[in-house]
Amino acid sequence: MDFSFTQDQDEMRSHIRDLLEKVCPPEYVEKCDKDGVPPYEAYKALCDAGWIGLIIPEEFGGAGGSATDLAILLEEIGNKFEELAMWVFRTMTWGAFAIMEHGTSEQKNKFLPLIAKGQLSFAFGLTEPESGSDAAALTTKADLVDGKYIINGQKVFSSGMDISDYCLVVLRTSKEDIKQKGITTLMVDTKSKGIEIHKIETLGHRSIGTTQVFYNDVEVSEDSIIGGIGNGWKVCDSCLWYERLCLSAARTGAATACFDLAVDYAKNREQFGRPIGKFQGISHKIADMKVMLELSRMLFYKFAWSIDQGTASRHEAAILKLYSSESYKSIADMSLQVFGGYGYCMEYPVQRYYRDARLSVIGAGTSEIQRNIIAKSLGL
Ligand SMILES: Cc1cc2nc3c(=O)[nH]c(=O)nc-3n(C[C@H](O)[C@H](O)[C@H](O)COP(=O)(O)OP(=O)(O)OC[C@H]3O[C@@H](n4cnc5c(N)ncnc54)[C@H](O)[C@@H]3O)c2cc1C
Repeated sequence: MDFSFTQDQDEMRSHIRDLLEKVCPPEYVEKCDKDGVPPYEAYKALCDAGWIGLIIPEEFGGAGGSATDLAILLEEIGNKFEELAMWVFRTMTWGAFAIMEHGTSEQKNKFLPLIAKGQLSFAFGLTEPESGSDAAALTTKADLVDGKYIINGQKVFSSGMDISDYCLVVLRTSKEDIKQKGITTLMVDTKSKGIEIHKIETLGHRSIGTTQVFYNDVEVSEDSIIGGIGNGWKVCDSCLWYERLCLSAARTGAATACFDLAVDYAKNREQFGRPIGKFQGISHKIADMKVMLELSRMLFYKFAWSIDQGTASRHEAAILKLYSSESYKSIADMSLQVFGGYGYCMEYPVQRYYRDARLSVIGAGTSEIQRNIIAKSLGL
């Protein structure tokens, strides 16, 4: 067993860290969150430095990096700004990986070099008003008319749709088949005629946020299908590995930043004539947070390793998603408690982690659904 990173990976981590320190300082993050403005400049800087092409094969202009490399990138970005990490993750998973894994050679040649150059970004449209956890109950449909697909329906929570060039839309192409059968994924230009996007007000993730999308007779060509007709569920399932990995790495990075704030505050805030960190009620919280962080890191790096070995499994992904997101939520909550009344004030950054972390146990499959998957893998 080898738990060490390669020298290249250590260097990669410090390059990313140095870049982010310049382009994504805390004041910038606070402003993006407060004003509801996406971190355009920081995203562009990451693209310009080539990081968005990390997992894209070299023949298409990428770096051909591994899942472990990807985990390092997302952990570092999440540590600076979770919303920036979400933007990067969506493009890398629902754009780059989906096309690398399921695209035709024409689609690979069309999209991958542009993604690697940072010229295209992507959103993902699966959830609908009546199909959330029961995602396969979706009803948005695409009918084939004169060689074109015509999309009609409504999606909800398509995050970053308003700032993305394309959305991988999951929809129904067959009237006969139900649930997972008859589902297809289409790569849809977000500027297509007939698409209406409305921003949704949310508790956290306020810089980029999420949207509601209406598709009214949206026309797309047949070559927009990713992975073949009727294979949409398979496409989503295979991208799940990368989704779980990226989200867990980014959120553990964010949890670490939140934890660091709490430790610093516990060492400096004095009550009853000594630093509050000297009180067991506080120091034990910090010790518990440290244990959660260590375990989350071990889980997502082990999962990255499993992906690289080709042995990743559905229940391992569920364990990772469940543990890392519940830990992030607890760490953000405990950190806010360490800050006392100041943690509750908008002036201090800890409240942002508290708001953002709340999504982690809901989005991309709730904690209840992860527990269902784990229990099912045990024959329950
Ligand atoms: C800010 C935000 C961003 C998002 N981004 C995206 C995105 O980019 N693309 C996208 O497609 N989706 C996105 N989502 C959707 C997200 O994945 C769903 O919200 C999530 O899967 C839950 O679906 P739901 O909200 O409809 O809740 P429901 O499915 O209605 O669940 C409600 C409650 O019931 C529980 N429940 C449901 N079924 C079961 C069961 N079988 N066993 C036990 N408990 C159950 C749930 O765990 C939950 O607690 C986003 C959501 C949010 C809030």
